Amino acid sequence: MDMQTSFLDRLFESGLLIDTGVDGLYGRSGQFEDVIAAFERLIDKFGGADGAEAIRFPPGMNRAFFEKSGYMKSFPQLAGTVHSFCGSELDHMSLLKCMEVGEDWTKDQEATDIVLTPAACYPLYPTVAKRGALPDDGALFDLQSYCFRHEPSKDPARQQLFRMREYVCMGSEKHVTDFRQSWMDRGVEMMKAVGLDVAIDVANDPFFGRAGKMLANNQRDQNLKFELLIPITSTAKPTACMSFNYHQDAFGTKWGLNFEDGSVVHTACVGFGLERIALALFHTHGLDVKEWPESVRKALWG
Ligand code: ATP
Ligand code: ZN
Ligand code: MG
Repeated sequence: MDMQTSFLDRLFESGLLIDTGVDGLYGRSGQFEDVIAAFERLIDKFGGADGAEAIRFPPGMNRAFFEKSGYMKSFPQLAGTVHSFCGSELDHMSLLKCMEVGEDWTKDQEATDIVLTPAACYPLYPTVAKRGALPDDGALFDLQSYCFRHEPSKDPARQQLFRMREYVCMGSEKHVTDFRQSWMDRGVEMMKAVGLDVAIDVANDPFFGRAGKMLANNQRDQNLKFELLIPITSTAKPTACMSFNYHQDAFGTKWGLNFEDGSVVHTACVGFGLERIALALFHTHGLDVKEWPESVRKALWG
């Protein structure tokens, strides 16, 4: 049995995570949630003075926006769509029959207007575009959402439904890259305050297929994505607990995000993987919060 499985087993045994029978789909205990809530307050403390506009979207987004985002070009393997039964009474009878005899009853499900949100910032860009031109000093948003990614795993740090807290910055190239740099510094400082060992490294997204390899290389070469890594399931391969993404003018162009003078806005987003941060804390300081170092408890709960 590898390390990953045993940490997951210990999380189940302690009750911090609750097994649902599906890899990557877990219940969370009150204690686990309390750690996430405390860490989010720490995020508020570091980012609160920036005056970000808080918006909370549900974990599903408009399918038309999802389609336009190009997600299926880059990450078809991760997407999750919401399908529903839309048939007649006759269709219902054959559906029930299928279920009874153990045949595939899902084949007649129809796609709804909703897809599961793949990253907290995806619903934001079309929302802001609809408001019209951006002011010269840009805009800053504070988001949090459950996100879905179809990547079942026994690694407790790789879940299928997990929460991402994000800050999204829109403005000039300098404005948004400065924003990204300041959160890299803050990220390191925050993790230090809660006793976590961190490293920052350049990274890439898992673009699908052979053409995707080129996109990934390009993303790395241009330093578009950085990750803050903390050991959770392996010290040799630490886990990305935050990411710092500079999109250049890609989302600005795609969604028509412009300044008053018509020039295209640049964007960057900074994401905290909330479950991963909680897991890093439990892995580093132990499964019993009462036993955590006083300085860590103080940073989280005052
Ligand atoms: P990884 O390389 O580990 O798959 P990622 O590059 O896909 O991470 P992002 O797309 O940048 O991650 O998402 C922002 C943050 O959300 C990550 O830094 C991580 O903390 C968290 N995250 C991403 N995927 C998962 C997952 N499957 N389970 C839990 N948290 C995740
Ligand atoms: Zn984002
Ligand atoms: Mg990933």
